[in-house]
Amino acid sequence: MPPGADVSLVDRINIEHVFFPIVDGGDIMHIWMGEGSPDAKGLKDFAMNLAKNTQVGYFAFTKDMSVCMDDFHMMAGLKDACENCGSDNIEQLSRVTGYIQAVGGWNAAKKQELEDRKRYNSADMV
Ligand SMILES: [Zn+2]
Repeated sequence: MPPGADVSLVDRINIEHVFFPIVDGGDIMHIWMGEGSPDAKGLKDFAMNLAKNTQVGYFAFTKDMSVCMDDFHMMAGLKDACENCGSDNIEQLSRVTGYIQAVGGWNAAKKQELEDRKRYNSADMV
């Protein structure tokens, strides 16, 4: 399913999980998260439910982050300026093909995908 498809998390899972048994490798379900910090127990319960009750073989929760390169202040989400010192010397981080990387090195297509991603928060994980 396209990362930007405007579907609920439950619908995304129900559509994507049927493909896991027929794909041999490189299959992962990405759950792009917003800037919030989900409750740890709720996230664990959701992950256990996903693992036990669906055919999803691999999944990843990804939260975008930004770090100020002047004072190394970490921020949730993709920020253009530091919330601590105001600097615009910011490195944005997110996941691509399995790894958290600096967004600045991504090609134009991946940057567009990053912008398009449908993000879910803890309220979607019930
Ligand atoms: Zn800063």
